[in-house]
Amino acid sequence: MEPNMKLVVREEQYQRMNVDARVIAEKVFQFYDTLPRRGKPCDPRQWTTLASFLLVSDCDAKVVSCATGTRCLGGSLLNKHGHRLHDSHAEVLARRAFQRFLMSEASRVYQHLSSPDSVLELCAEGNKLQLKDDVKVILFSTQTPCGDASIYTRPDGDVHASKKRNMSLESDHFTKKTKSDINFGSDNDGKSTAGARWQPPEDGDLYRTGAKCVPGVEQDELSPGLGYHVTGVLRTKPGRGDQTKSLSCSDKISRWNILGCQGCFSMLFLDKPIYIDHIVLSGCSYDQDALRRAIYGRLSADISADNQVYTLHCPEISHSDIMFRHSKSSIEQLLGGSSKIIPCPMSLIWYKQAEDGVTEVAVNGYKQGMTKTLLTTPAARLSICRSSMLKELHRIFGCMDETRRLALLDRRNLPRNYLECKSLTGYSVYWNHLTKSHKQFTVWPRKELTYSSFTLEDA
Ligand SMILES: [Zn+2]
Repeated sequence: MEPNMKLVVREEQYQRMNVDARVIAEKVFQFYDTLPRRGKPCDPRQWTTLASFLLVSDCDAKVVSCATGTRCLGGSLLNKHGHRLHDSHAEVLARRAFQRFLMSEASRVYQHLSSPDSVLELCAEGNKLQLKDDVKVILFSTQTPCGDASIYTRPDGDVHASKKRNMSLESDHFTKKTKSDINFGSDNDGKSTAGARWQPPEDGDLYRTGAKCVPGVEQDELSPGLGYHVTGVLRTKPGRGDQTKSLSCSDKISRWNILGCQGCFSMLFLDKPIYIDHIVLSGCSYDQDALRRAIYGRLSADISADNQVYTLHCPEISHSDIMFRHSKSSIEQLLGGSSKIIPCPMSLIWYKQAEDGVTEVAVNGYKQGMTKTLLTTPAARLSICRSSMLKELHRIFGCMDETRRLALLDRRNLPRNYLECKSLTGYSVYWNHLTKSHKQFTVWPRKELTYSSFTLEDA
């Protein structure tokens, strides 16, 4: 595959969706309120971020997955058997839960259990599945994606600047700066200090992120004002201490805008990738230009367009001012700055399954409530961790008749090895191509193979 350096954007993306950001925000918040208390902030000082995938058809939006979370494990805590979630930022969890939803939908179609509200259907060739024609995908979040999208000029001359400034501190990656008392921001070693105070910059300033540039790209200058950050580069997730190996949400979303948000495994049964049509942010500070730059703009100059299946998609972006009741700014306002507020250590994860749904609570990448001895057992594994996904994939293919399996896989059985399963799809092949050919992705840190070479026996 040779990149021809020409940008291809699908026609469909120009078919404007009529999305009312307030309606979407209210729908997700109402849905969140119906979920059990377990996994939600349980201390009045706790805050979190909420993200959701919704599907829209016939002018009706339905939540199909949602999750809360702000944490990401350090590199030393990675699990080589795929038992543990590394990245628990809300957008990433909601997307993994969306993948589980797609697997559940696929299983229903293949077992002739689908109902009129199923969103997948068999293609004309009779084996692969496709998203029904009129179905559109929305990614909702109560926070601007961490990383590149979070870097933009502060509106300090604005009469609402003070309010916006507070809202900019919504995420855990906006922490107080130690090297200077001029601005809020995160210093390079991620430590915070008391006593930092904000003063208006003389010649403009940026919102800052604690997400560090990956090795091999232009690094932040960390000079005062607008020169603090470099924009448009890959960054690892913000965090203190043990450096994470996970990329920022801005970077991950940019990847989904090329490879789709269905993940690698779903491409074993889908005829084409599923792209995000619309992104809705609610109750957070954001900047359209920075968000566009981060999630597709920085890719458009030389993304290879040699592929008929995977092409760059540019979601529309909407914003609502309705605040999430558990967001950092809501909790700050509620407590009036009198107490120290803290990120909720738990994540609530939900995805639609048939007529019902699956709810799980995660702590440190495992199910909540596990004792140390249980952590190594299947009981501790979340249904969206990599080993559970492998197991579910085997279950789906195990229920098929051999003719269909042969048609989908071009072999009799699914490999038992996680990496081998992945390598069966064009997704994996195309991603490998991008990491060799596209300047944005050549520096994408790859987890060592030891973290992906587990088998079904380990699951
Ligand atoms: Zn994030």
